[in-house]
Amino acid sequence: MLPREAVREVTGFGLASRADGYVFQPKSVEEIRQVFALARTTGRQIVLRGAGRSYGDASILHEGIVLDLTQMNRFLSWNRETGVADCEPGVTIEGLWRTGLPNGWWPPVVSGTMYPTLGGALAMNIHGKNNFKVGTLGDNVLEIDFLTVDGMISKLSPQDAMFYEAISSPGILGVITRVKLQLKRVVSGDLKVYAESMPNWSAQFDAFEGRADSADYMVSWVDCFAKGSRAGRGLFHAAWHDAAESLESLLEFHQDLPPKVFGVVPKSQVWRILKPLNHRLAMRGLNLAKNLSAKLIGNKKMYRQSLVAFSFLLDYVPDWRNAYLPGGFIQYQSFVSKEKAGTMLCSA
Ligand SMILES: Cc1cc2nc3c(=O)[nH]c(=O)nc-3n(C[C@H](O)[C@H](O)[C@H](O)COP(=O)(O)OP(=O)(O)OC[C@H]3O[C@@H](n4cnc5c(N)ncnc54)[C@H](O)[C@@H]3O)c2cc1C
Repeated sequence: MLPREAVREVTGFGLASRADGYVFQPKSVEEIRQVFALARTTGRQIVLRGAGRSYGDASILHEGIVLDLTQMNRFLSWNRETGVADCEPGVTIEGLWRTGLPNGWWPPVVSGTMYPTLGGALAMNIHGKNNFKVGTLGDNVLEIDFLTVDGMISKLSPQDAMFYEAISSPGILGVITRVKLQLKRVVSGDLKVYAESMPNWSAQFDAFEGRADSADYMVSWVDCFAKGSRAGRGLFHAAWHDAAESLESLLEFHQDLPPKVFGVVPKSQVWRILKPLNHRLAMRGLNLAKNLSAKLIGNKKMYRQSLVAFSFLLDYVPDWRNAYLPGGFIQYQSFVSKEKAGTMLCSA
């Protein structure tokens, strides 16, 4: 029998997908095996879940067993001299930078939010703003432990073919129970950031290609309301690790995002301001305003920004997804091959 008190509603990050499941939070590999056994005797399917930051339904399952790995969140070892971290799967990207940065180590690949777990991030093989340079998170992992439904653990490294199946199997082939990775050496907690307003897609492509050899990170915001010759307009950013040593900038107090917007509005309340603006007309206006400010303020300028502020832009406004309630939202990400992207978008 499955305990009724384990039943909970779990959602995708976009809040558009919801399901009631039996939630279990194992603290060890042995407890995961016990959940496998329970699933077998009760005939239930299992879905794995990290921090639940996938936008859609990847980590929810109606009337199934939700194996939530957030409680397996210990550092098994951390070497501040070499920057090698050996972690349980529930260690988050936030846990990684808070542990590493004071000693001059930054995660090799991070998502636009710091809250995903390493297990969840690796199961989706996430990419960061340095994808063009270092590849995905999976390309930067030294070794994982992978637990399959027969209860066996395999130690997998990038030399094993099975490693690549495991890191791109969104929790379907087994559980990542340990992640060992090498963090990146940094001497400053700041980046030098260059911003440039872009008039259209072809300028965007030129900007990315032109800086790919030198930049450490690149990202661009696009006004998706613009059409015709203005399609693709937006704001391009390239960033470089600051080579000037600054021990103070490595510390958490320098990195932590400010609790208020413009020093006045508590950030926890900002989603309430966004909610009434959540319709086509207001969004068009906001995009227009952002594009204008990109052109008029700071265009073609360099400035300094902390690693956390640059990397985790989407964490600036806590609970921003609530602005989409009651229906939630579906995130649409299009992948277009490099060969076709230019012709498809620039002629659209
Ligand atoms: C604001 C925001 C910004 C984002 N930015 C980016 C970005 O820049 N780049 C990017 O690539 N992604 C990005 N994402 C997506 C996010 O990084 C991924 O969805 C990531 O997988 C979430 O990790 P999680 O711990 O929340 O896992 P969950 O969402 O809970 O689970 C993700 C998948 O992993 C499986 N899983 C979870 N734990 C394990 C485990 N231990 N072993 C095996 N499988 C497991 C689950 O079954 C599920 O299929 C962003 C998401 C948000 C909300």
